[in-house]
Amino acid sequence: MGPDLGMVRVMELSIVVPCFNEEAVLPETVRRLVETLGALQSKGKISHESRIYFVDDGSRDRTWALIEDFSRQHQAVCGIKLSRNFGQQQATLAGLLNVGGDALISVDADLQDDLGAIEKMLDACRDGHDVVYGVRNKRETDSFFKRWSALCFYRLMAWLTGKEKIIYNHADYRLLSRLALEHLRDFKEINLFLRGIVPLLGFPSTCVYYDRASRYAGHSAYNMRQLFRLAIDGLTSFSVFPLRLITTLGLLISLLSSAFCMWALLAVFSDTAVPGWASTVVPLSLLSGVQLLSIGVVGEYLAKVYMETKARPRYIIEKRV
Ligand code: UDP
Ligand code: MG
Repeated sequence: MGPDLGMVRVMELSIVVPCFNEEAVLPETVRRLVETLGALQSKGKISHESRIYFVDDGSRDRTWALIEDFSRQHQAVCGIKLSRNFGQQQATLAGLLNVGGDALISVDADLQDDLGAIEKMLDACRDGHDVVYGVRNKRETDSFFKRWSALCFYRLMAWLTGKEKIIYNHADYRLLSRLALEHLRDFKEINLFLRGIVPLLGFPSTCVYYDRASRYAGHSAYNMRQLFRLAIDGLTSFSVFPLRLITTLGLLISLLSSAFCMWALLAVFSDTAVPGWASTVVPLSLLSGVQLLSIGVVGEYLAKVYMETKARPRYIIEKRV
């Protein structure tokens, strides 16, 4: 960076919005984001070069056509089109790594996250925080199942990875400074879980709190299966605890079964053995259960290694407007 001649430079803000089949909500999202940007500019908080980048993650509806239209109408609106659907994490990353700006905020397209928090994030950034997490106050607008599963997931994750490493009730609504972002670039993993990686960056960080609304329009791109997938990915990308658990479990069960064998031998030699299938079938099924489960967990990690060694691109940009 060049000398700033003693003047406080106005921050250039880039907002990155991943979009997958969001034609229903996009016009309202554009309207509100443009309005928010305008308000921040007139307050002198961000520069007039600030932009909103909509990343089309291979939508099958009119999302990209809308983004093109809006980019013609509004100077602040830009678009990045991925060549196919890569997933929300990758789409967000594609945006973040390919735009300018001194401060970068990622936010969902569905207006669930209060845009009012942007100003608070910028203030926190100006106060010297390189990472600012948007954290939901409450999740009443989410379904019971979603709230409950999210709580279980955060608890498990906190327990497995250490309290500091994941922020409870934080989605992908956050601010990163240019400095933090340039270091995020060095995390090359394919199994990308931004919520887990960002805390590993270090740097001064803080949280701003906001109330989460329900989806403005359209419907959630995640079904139960995908949420489960995201949780498993998060866990296995950030903790080797399940692998260690297998070893401990294996040891424990081996000890127990050798004691069981000894007892059985004694019984045979003292002629008290009753030929029964229960004593055979019960341990057999129990052990095969444990074995299958263990192999499954190992497979999960193996799959990660497999994908990482391929080092495939995490996203492909088709075009920009
Ligand atoms: N999204 C995406 N690619 C996908 C799925 C989702 O870019 O494959 C975007 C989606 O358009 C939205 C954000 O990720 O902006 C969050 O998705 P959604 O609201 O469906 O998730 P939820 O809030 O239900 O967790
Ligand atoms: Mg949503």
